[in-house]
Amino acid sequence: MQDVYPEFYKAFRCIANRCEDSCCKDWDIDIDSDTEAFYQTVQGALGDKMRRELVTDAYGERVFKAKNGRCPFWNRDMLCDIFIGIGEEHLSQTCGGFPRVAVDYGVFCEHILSFACPEAARFMLRAEGDPYAAFGGAAELEAAENDDGALRFLLKARTRSVQMLLDRSLPFAYRLADCLEFNTQVQAVLDGNEPQPLLPADAPPGSCRFIFDLHADFEIMSARWRTAIQEAQAHADTPAVSDDFTRDFEAFAQYYIYRYYLEAVRSGDVLYAVKRIVCAYFVTGTLDALFAQSGDPLPRLRILQRYSKEVEHSYDNTEAMNRAFDSDARFSAENLIALLEQSVADAPPSL
Ligand code: SF4
Repeated sequence: MQDVYPEFYKAFRCIANRCEDSCCKDWDIDIDSDTEAFYQTVQGALGDKMRRELVTDAYGERVFKAKNGRCPFWNRDMLCDIFIGIGEEHLSQTCGGFPRVAVDYGVFCEHILSFACPEAARFMLRAEGDPYAAFGGAAELEAAENDDGALRFLLKARTRSVQMLLDRSLPFAYRLADCLEFNTQVQAVLDGNEPQPLLPADAPPGSCRFIFDLHADFEIMSARWRTAIQEAQAHADTPAVSDDFTRDFEAFAQYYIYRYYLEAVRSGDVLYAVKRIVCAYFVTGTLDALFAQSGDPLPRLRILQRYSKEVEHSYDNTEAMNRAFDSDARFSAENLIALLEQSVADAPPSL
């Protein structure tokens, strides 16, 4: 099977106790069955603690539950007691693998680094040229020939979507609007319909407050993120995303498309991923502007990384967004496009 990697993938190394966040923070840690079987055999105080801390969560998964937002094995020096005690080779698949994600499409496998890891996010934000040049290339297209489904069609549509998002001749919000409109046509083809031009929304789009309201209702791990979202909610009627921010958001959007667009092979819905990028754009762009004004600027890397950790990596939050897209007309492609276009018209002039 063909394996495809972004250019920076193999250079990534975890920076452990120099990490400004940590995957040992906020999350419960999944323990796969092989790892659990080994942990049941570990002797001494560490083994006793492992068996004490292993519980079954609400989804039926075996986990180490975070206590006060920390993995119970994350020590005061911000290092892992399991790694120190019995070696890296005995970390669970989740701990040993993160932030590496393998997305297997049967005939090829794409390997991605998650934006929820600050160090991986740094690699993505600093990448020169096109770090995903190998994605969607001849090898994948050829492998997709052997697939009965829509994979080859979606690979080509994904490449076109990325080209639209990276076309710097247009403001980013216009690119995102074009990408969304293009994908309504892709969706029509997937649904077996004749693609039709999208009609403009029949009423002015109004405010994008509903996007912020949805995010404020999400399951939120960090108190600082909750406060930030509530503050952004208060400014949702006049979101102002700076041109400067969109350079960094481009890298996030590119990552997100490569990570999630081909989910449509299974879900049959290509618009979910693009609409989630639109939501991320308004929320993180507004947070960036607010932090910049407050005199307590949070680096953009941290805003995008935290969004990935709080929203993208939460199954419940992602499902809540997809449900809102299905049931709330304000998340229609027409309305989101109108909001994106309006945001360019309302943007303050660049300095
Ligand atoms: S978030 Fe990334 S850099 Fe930080 S501890 Fe986890 S893998 Fe290492």
